Amino acid sequence: HPVPRNFMLSHLNAPQREAVKYLDGPLLVLAGAGSGKTRVITHKIVYLIEECGYSPQHIAAITFTNKASREMQARVSKLLQGNNSKGLTVTTFHSLGMQILRQEAKHLGYKPQFSILDASDSMSIVSDILKTTDKKEIRRGQTLISNWKNAMLSPVAAMEQAESDIELQYATVYRTYQATLQAYQAMDFDDLIRLPVELFDRDATVLEKWQNKLRYLLIDEYQDTNTCQYRMVKQIAGVQGAFTAVGDDDQAIYAWRGANVENLRILQDDFSRLHVIKLEQNYRSTVRILRAANTLIANNPKLFEKKLWSDLGMGETIQVVAARDEDQEAENVVMRLQSHKFENRTKFSDYAILYRGNHQARIFEQYLRNARIPYQLSGGTSFFDRTEIKDIIAYLRLLANSDDDPAFIRAVTTPKRGIGAQTLEKLGNYAAGRHISLFAAAFEAGMEHQLGPKQYEPLMTFCNYINNLQFRAERESCESIMQDLLQAIAYEAYLFDQEEARAAQSKWSNVLDFVGWLNKKAEADGKNVIELTQLIALLNILEGRDEGEVDMVRLSTLHAAKGLEFGHVFLVGIEEGILPHRESIENGQIEEERRLMYVGITRAQKSLTLTHCKKRKRAGEWQMCEPSRFIDELAQEDLRVSGRESDPATQKAEGTAKLDQLKAMLSRKAGVEK
Ligand code: ATP
Ligand code: MG
Repeated sequence: HPVPRNFMLSHLNAPQREAVKYLDGPLLVLAGAGSGKTRVITHKIVYLIEECGYSPQHIAAITFTNKASREMQARVSKLLQGNNSKGLTVTTFHSLGMQILRQEAKHLGYKPQFSILDASDSMSIVSDILKTTDKKEIRRGQTLISNWKNAMLSPVAAMEQAESDIELQYATVYRTYQATLQAYQAMDFDDLIRLPVELFDRDATVLEKWQNKLRYLLIDEYQDTNTCQYRMVKQIAGVQGAFTAVGDDDQAIYAWRGANVENLRILQDDFSRLHVIKLEQNYRSTVRILRAANTLIANNPKLFEKKLWSDLGMGETIQVVAARDEDQEAENVVMRLQSHKFENRTKFSDYAILYRGNHQARIFEQYLRNARIPYQLSGGTSFFDRTEIKDIIAYLRLLANSDDDPAFIRAVTTPKRGIGAQTLEKLGNYAAGRHISLFAAAFEAGMEHQLGPKQYEPLMTFCNYINNLQFRAERESCESIMQDLLQAIAYEAYLFDQEEARAAQSKWSNVLDFVGWLNKKAEADGKNVIELTQLIALLNILEGRDEGEVDMVRLSTLHAAKGLEFGHVFLVGIEEGILPHRESIENGQIEEERRLMYVGITRAQKSLTLTHCKKRKRAGEWQMCEPSRFIDELAQEDLRVSGRESDPATQKAEGTAKLDQLKAMLSRKAGVEK
């Protein structure tokens, strides 16, 4: 049956509709969690295409994570009902930057197949330059470099502005670091934003080309853009200011990565015509959950006045559960999840377990595995950070960019093929003397002299193989290249050589998993393996690999859960020292921690459970833990506290009772299924 033309607009409330239809100039939608900001963006894209005659290729929507962009793309396609969204750009700032850099690489002295270094690559470069392995010092160097880059300061400018000897020393490190990256034809994550901005500043023709391509910008999670990203928006949007930004100052949680919530205010200064629309109805959470969120965040000073209400009913009380220790906490969460799922006939994917830091995940993984509950881990140490996956990726990076020395070193030494430290040192000296890459040095006539045949031959075998595979990779399917590669390097045998059988088996199956994923991706996107390599680097930034639409419990850091929603949420480890984090307490950054808690609470639609432990083992010793001050800040009448005062005996009894209940339920269920 025919769909009315403005069918789409009927799914929006009045201020949302106004935001979608507003095209007279720059627009900021400033509103609390769950008020439909992201929905405004998806609908506006469709509106621009269907009602305003925009070609999809002239629209760019910028999301905070890769996952969010995939979801947005899918939602837009659905809303378009058969109309084509071909050419529409829905990406993160980083992948937009990468897209720009691939096309404009030559203006910056890079080839289009530059490598993208991850944090640990850049860490080892900084470590080499500083000649230290002291993690604290290295991290300090990395942070300073990153801050300089986000502030658009070149190494020379950083050296000029240095206010102390130490700062000058680090600025010099920055200079060497940048020269190293250039030599490797590599960029780090900050460069993906900084370099396009620098280029746009310098070259009006290039900027005009991109302004002409991207005629309307939509930016989600605007409160977490950094200075550099904001400049990119300003450049592309131009004087017309053809953009819609949506954000919530109460959800600014990336200050530690250089995000600047001040950008919300600056927007008003920079664009005097800026129109601001506020949304006040929350469509996500029950009244109780929303009230908890509002009460909590009222403890922060307000940047902007906002209201948020819901008509989804009072809903369940919020559970606060005190556990004896980490084990009991995890056991308890898993048990509650299981029985809740059984009683409510929900799906695993309706549940999320959210925590402050990555290391908190492990114990929950363990208990979920024991209970045979499928789960999906996102945020932080991802699939791509596993050694075996990084080994394979090193080969891919080398195929894409043979100047990528870190990839070369990793690939040439894994698996071992008779190329040792001595060979590499000679190769390194030769390459440094001539300002060429290790790979290129291997082919120089001089090298054969310097290395004896015992060293030279395996090196040549390796380099020739890579050369040959590189040639084929541009012509053949990803599948055949990967098959050849794994066989040629005998990676499976290497794993079983290195590790005991079980560990080797699990690593090998990760590799096969990765290759399977890669092949599927290559086929879906019509890309060869070289073209996919840069993409892999980007996937790693925040959320790891996409698991697709599967029914699994979500385990995630609070940071990576931004923008998402789940029926039922467990916020775990809600303790002083964890949330708020110890360092943040010491540095007086409680407000950002409170926003993080606010983000966590507002992910929940129907039920919310907060858990904390009375003691935890840290470095082998038991430490007493206090419940987080944030629990005290919630409206107490909405909470139901359990496990706090009871003595070990009653706790045990409680636990046994729960277990019996669960067993009874499970046997009932088994009966039903029979
Ligand atoms: P966050 O700040 O967490 O990113 P948000 O403001 O982006 O939240 P959305 O994710 O867009 O909010 O919307 C929250 C939920 O409310 C979604 O499930 C969305 O589909 C629903 N929703 C938004 N607006 C409406 C509406 N007008 N009618 C019905 N449902 C709506
Ligand atoms: Mg959103």
